[in-house]
Amino acid sequence: MAALREPLVFGDTRVDCIVELVKDYYPAMEFFRGLTPEILDEHRHWLEPDFIHPGNGNVILTFQSYLVRTPRHTILVDSCIGNDKPRPTRQMFHMLKLDAWQRNLAALGLTVADIDFVMCTHLHVDHVGWNTRLENGRWVPTFPNARYIFSGKELDFWSERERQAPETCPWITDSVLPVVAAGCHQCVTSDHAFDDHMRLTPTPGHTIDHFSVELGGMEPDAIIGGDMVHSPIQVLYPEIGMFSDFDSKQAGETRHALFSRLLGTPTKLCTAHFAEPSVIRITGEKGGGYDWAYA
Ligand SMILES: [Zn+2]
Repeated sequence: MAALREPLVFGDTRVDCIVELVKDYYPAMEFFRGLTPEILDEHRHWLEPDFIHPGNGNVILTFQSYLVRTPRHTILVDSCIGNDKPRPTRQMFHMLKLDAWQRNLAALGLTVADIDFVMCTHLHVDHVGWNTRLENGRWVPTFPNARYIFSGKELDFWSERERQAPETCPWITDSVLPVVAAGCHQCVTSDHAFDDHMRLTPTPGHTIDHFSVELGGMEPDAIIGGDMVHSPIQVLYPEIGMFSDFDSKQAGETRHALFSRLLGTPTKLCTAHFAEPSVIRITGEKGGGYDWAYA
């Protein structure tokens, strides 16, 4: 497990990562939508070994939260996979008993009681897991003093899915609805502004109302992008989607729009799943897409 990384510091705001897991996942040709063998072969030389496993060809993902500390608040953006959660169709997330996430939180000098807000960029299995923990056989909010921020539209979509077909989204049952039942959540729109230095921005497509979190002024210091992008191959080819997208075409348009906005700016994009250090800048245009560098 990686050691602590250097925080990003912007004035009196500090951003740290809390890594839970780094794991090779699905074969690249199954993970991505629209990837061709030709594109994969052309870029394999730099995608390996950090983004594609050289042995089995699987996409390698980092699973992590971002922690934002301002003078007023401590904010967790996304809550990874979590422990003890039955995920019968996703063995790599099934009934985990990891302590890395808690150890990395503690290494920042924090406990679960210190978190004021939990923001879920979207309600997928690897972004809501630590929302709850098992206590005497019940799922209870992990962060006792936190208000959990969800997109209302996203919550409505997944609540309805859970009513219709709970077996397709067990993470809603055990990691989202118990937070709602406990009255710890707040529904917002995906362009909600918290204050002058922190606001949400809509980045739909991967899910119905995915949002990203902007930090700083109108030219942000950083954007925490959740799953608006999973891999640097989607920076070069923004139109390439991934298997669990709600709408891959819209997700591609979202990537084009955000990357062209970031082009030539110092804004750092904090990605959820890129290999560490995971924070990039958009440095140029390349073909029909964009070039990138670690920030
Ligand atoms: Zn994800």
